[in-house]
Amino acid sequence: MALPVAPMLRIATYTVLQHLKGGRYPLVLMLEPLLRCNLACPGCGKIDYPDPILNQRLSYQQCMDAIDECGAPAVSIAGGEPLLHRDMPKIVQGYLEKKKLVILCTNALLLKKKINDYKPSPYFTWSIHLDGDKAMHDHAVDQKGTYEVAVEAIQLAQSKGFRVQINCTVFDGASPDRLAAFFDVMKAQGVEITVSPGYAYERAPDQEHFLNRQRTKNFFREVFKRGDDGKAWDFTNSPLFLDFLAGNQTYECTPWSMPLRTVFGWQKPCYLVGEGYVSTFKELMEGTDWEQYGVGKYEKCANCMVHCGFEGTAATDAIRHPLKMFSVARKGVRTEGEMAPDIDLSNQRPAENVYSTHVERELARIIAENPKGAKRTERAA
Ligand code: SF4
Ligand code: SF4
Repeated sequence: MALPVAPMLRIATYTVLQHLKGGRYPLVLMLEPLLRCNLACPGCGKIDYPDPILNQRLSYQQCMDAIDECGAPAVSIAGGEPLLHRDMPKIVQGYLEKKKLVILCTNALLLKKKINDYKPSPYFTWSIHLDGDKAMHDHAVDQKGTYEVAVEAIQLAQSKGFRVQINCTVFDGASPDRLAAFFDVMKAQGVEITVSPGYAYERAPDQEHFLNRQRTKNFFREVFKRGDDGKAWDFTNSPLFLDFLAGNQTYECTPWSMPLRTVFGWQKPCYLVGEGYVSTFKELMEGTDWEQYGVGKYEKCANCMVHCGFEGTAATDAIRHPLKMFSVARKGVRTEGEMAPDIDLSNQRPAENVYSTHVERELARIIAENPKGAKRTERAA
C-alpha cells in the first residue's frame, strides 16, 4: 500500500522548498521517547543502559516540542519499544493533528493488545520490525515465535484499515536467496519494506555480524538480482538509496536529515552515533562540527550505509538529478558491472569513547531531579 497522495505531496513540497532555500534541514524526526524494550536483540545498540535511564520517558509535551523545534514533515517513533510508553496514543494523535506523517516502529509484541488505542489515518503507518523469514527474524531478535507474532500483527493491522510497512535490518551472514523469498512474501501480503544494513553499534552485544561496506554492496546486488533488479518489491526506500546500497553511488551521509531526539536530548551527530547531547534542535544544528563525522572522517562511521544517514543524501541527489532518479525507478538497480568508487578511509580520525561519560552525567541528572529515588537509582546502577 503506497503512501497516500496528501502526505506524499506535503513531504515533497517541503523538501523542494527547503532545498531551494539552501542550508541544512531535517526530513524525518527520529524520536526515542524511551529506551526500555521488551526484547533484547543482540544487534541493538539502544537498550544497553542502567535501569534508571531505561525508566526515563519523554513526556507528551517534550515530544510535541521536538517536532515544533525541528519542523520536519515526518516523525519516526522508535526506542526501545514505543508501545511501552503509556502516552503513546496521545503522542501519535498530537502529531497527526499537526499533519505530520507518523511512522510508529514496533516489534509488534504488544500490538494486538494496544491496536484499538489507534485509528487509521493517511498520515499514520505501523512499521513492524521484521528482519527476514521466521528463522532469520527469530535469530535476529533472539526469541522464538516473534516472527509469527509480527506476521499476525501485520494482518490484524491491515484488516483494521491501517497502513503497514516493515523495517528490515540486514546483518552479515544473511542469505540473498532467503531475503529475496521473504520480500516476495511481503509483496504478496501488500506490505512495503524499509530495508537497511545494520549499524555496528559499539554497545551492541553482537559485534561479529555487521556488514562492512563492500559486503553490503555485493549482498544487495545479489538480493536485487533476484527481484527484477529490485522492481519486484515495494520499498519505502528511495530508488537512489537502493542504488547506493548496490554500490552504484558514492554518497557522503547527511546526518542532520534524520535528527534524533532521545531521553538524553538531541543526539550529536546522528541517530547511530551518540557523541554528545544538547537541549535544543538549534544547538544541534549550529553547535555540531559536522565535518568531524562521516565515512572517511571518523572511525565509527567507516562501515555505515544506514538509511538514516544516506536517505537524505539520496533525496538531495534526486532533486538535483531527477532524470537519474526516474531512470533507476523505471529500470531498476544496476546489479552488474563496476561499482562507484568508495570513500578513502586512510585519514579518518580514531574513535572516541564517550559512552561512560554521558551515562554518568545522565545518572547524576536523574538523581539530582529526584533525590528520593536516588537510593534506588544507585542500587540499579
Ligand atoms: S526490538 Fe528494537 S529496540 Fe527492542 S531490543 Fe530489538 S532492536 Fe532494540
Ligand atoms: S556515517 Fe553519517 S550517518 Fe553514519 S554513523 Fe557516521 S555520521 Fe552517522
